Amino acid sequence: MEPVTDALEEICRRLAGVADGAVADYIPQLALADPAAFGLALVSMDGHRYQAGDAHTPFTIQSVSKPFVYALALADLGPDAVAARVGAEPSGEAFNAISLEPGTGRPANPMVNAGAIVATSLVRGADAGERFERIRACLSAFAGRALDVDEEVYASEAATGDRNRALAYLMRAAGALDGDVGEEVDTYFRQCSVRVTACDLAAMAATLAHGGANPVTGEQVVTEDVATRVMAVMATCGMYDRAGTWLLDVGLPAKSGVAGGLIAVSPARFGIAVYSPPLDEAGNPVRGVRALTEVSRRFGLHMMRPAGRHAVTVTEATTGRKAGAAWSERVRGPEEDERLAAEGHRIVLVAAQGGLEFTETEQILHAVDIRVPEQPGWIVLDLTRVTAIAQGSAMMLGAALAAFARQGHHIVIAAQRDFPAPVPDTPSWHTFPNREAALAWSEEQLLQETAHFRDA
Ligand code: GLN
Repeated sequence: MEPVTDALEEICRRLAGVADGAVADYIPQLALADPAAFGLALVSMDGHRYQAGDAHTPFTIQSVSKPFVYALALADLGPDAVAARVGAEPSGEAFNAISLEPGTGRPANPMVNAGAIVATSLVRGADAGERFERIRACLSAFAGRALDVDEEVYASEAATGDRNRALAYLMRAAGALDGDVGEEVDTYFRQCSVRVTACDLAAMAATLAHGGANPVTGEQVVTEDVATRVMAVMATCGMYDRAGTWLLDVGLPAKSGVAGGLIAVSPARFGIAVYSPPLDEAGNPVRGVRALTEVSRRFGLHMMRPAGRHAVTVTEATTGRKAGAAWSERVRGPEEDERLAAEGHRIVLVAAQGGLEFTETEQILHAVDIRVPEQPGWIVLDLTRVTAIAQGSAMMLGAALAAFARQGHHIVIAAQRDFPAPVPDTPSWHTFPNREAALAWSEEQLLQETAHFRDA
């Protein structure tokens, strides 16, 4: 009994009878595919693999290669240079449409053939051979194993690929494609003929979901920035002229291919892939679309659903005036105790746990804000049980604390690691390894500052 496998198997069984759609035959070799073949695979963020049906049947990656080669071009040239050559707007047209920007010939996006041919041509390499080798290595790193080319499908597409050649010639005439058209298109055909299984595609999708790091091998294949950009383009353009309906119904970045492959990415959750050759009129696998629509609904994965807020972040928020929590365990004499009781409201303690993103950071800062004293005080943040701070949140927290410090407050952080990193030039920022040390130091400071009470 294993719930993820059970769900995949159940969907596989139930949709096996769907007989709509037709196997692609414009590439003759693809027409030989078994229309009944049907496999599903899922790879989690821990690298756990789940599968059902024909998840190990090899087929050619076709257009599912496009997001990954686009990722390689982005990694090679950076986003601006790539954007100058290929757009990021849904074309609303078929995958092989001749839709180029008037004047420049720039293709609408890298998920349609025209844009994919340009993206392929942007990959660095001394010659076509080296460029293809880098593409194969990149696809392999995403999949977590060495992938090879189905030479028969490649030969079949090369023999019949005039439409793609025509597209490439048009782009070259408009100045949108450099180099030898024959070679560029040939590299693109080879890339489309790389052989994968549903399990491979699930690992590739999971690598995008995991911020560019393959969750099975651990290899950082592309940066998180690149992965994010690729998923964004998949979300708006991955399903050709069905991209809008797909985003509405399924709500996940996705990419389909004419051999029957389909991937979807649930960011920070998993990558999933389906193999089923019969396609609908838009060129998307019929059973694949049905299966992923069900998975998204069943597990509540639509990107636009508000993320659940189940975790408690702020575990304690108090000032020293209230009995108990904000006091260190240090034993004091009655006179000092009295002063701490009178002035202790100037020490604010907020303790938090778990991972911090925008919502959690805002909760912490709000807890501080409503307790911060009028006179200069000590803002003690116990972050010893915080496990991670997202980059943007660390900046948000640091900036807010630095602003409190500029108002005259002391920032006192208890954390096992150096986070958030002290903001440079903050008048008073102190880090301690635990709450006790942070509180004891703050009390000591308060007692020193109020020493004149005793002398007076
Ligand atoms: N190699 C195919 C082509 O260029 C890929 C198209 C696809 O998968 N949609 O026609």
